[in-house]
Amino acid sequence: MKLTVLGCLGAYPYNGEGTTGYLLQSGDFSVLLDCGSTTLVQLEKMFDPLKLDGVILSHYHHDHIADLGVLQYYWQLHPQRNPDKVLPIYGHTLDNEHFEELTLENVTKGIAYHETELLEFGPFSVTFMKTIHPVPCFALRFVEKTTGKVFVFTGDSGYLEGFNEFAKDCDLFLADTYLFRGNEHHKAHFTSLEAGTFAKNARAKRLVLTHLPQFGDLAQLQQEAQEAAETIPVELAAVGKVFEI
Ligand code: ZN
Repeated sequence: MKLTVLGCLGAYPYNGEGTTGYLLQSGDFSVLLDCGSTTLVQLEKMFDPLKLDGVILSHYHHDHIADLGVLQYYWQLHPQRNPDKVLPIYGHTLDNEHFEELTLENVTKGIAYHETELLEFGPFSVTFMKTIHPVPCFALRFVEKTTGKVFVFTGDSGYLEGFNEFAKDCDLFLADTYLFRGNEHHKAHFTSLEAGTFAKNARAKRLVLTHLPQFGDLAQLQQEAQEAAETIPVELAAVGKVFEI
């Protein structure tokens, strides 16, 4: 499978770069993972948005769904869209108001996922874990069925012991790392130290830091995570970067 970064800043866009959005592909199946600000314009540069097979959302904070409404309009109004094809958008139902907005009649359809249920989603089996965050948010673990490769995305989360198990032996661990070392046990986000430590404990093969801060030295953030991750390679997400998993 292949992961392409469309946006990787936390909270708000800055200096021409946007917030959380990724394109996850396996064979000819393409999924949008979160849909923050600038996701759609970045996607248009590299992939036809009408060819998406689905969207899956970790939670409904603005920096993860800012472009969802315009993606729905894209599907609704684009002259080349096949009117018989409806875009499935997967989200949780712990916030019903937002969940209902995932459906735009005959255009997109909201589909519920649940923490206790395995989701069969095209070439992926997906499991979920509720994270530490001010609103309900879920980490996602994708297993590519044909290869057994595992990709784990933390969503947004503060320190949560469960990641040691949830991310176990994954091939790529994409971790919310909004904070520098010294701010551990924050209510909403990992620090560099925590991201690196979870990667090490889970024996992840690679760690990619995302949901990055607008300010401060990102090389330092990476270095702090690398010290905690020990021998596991640590990289920073960046717009346009592609990770083969
Ligand atoms: Zn959030």
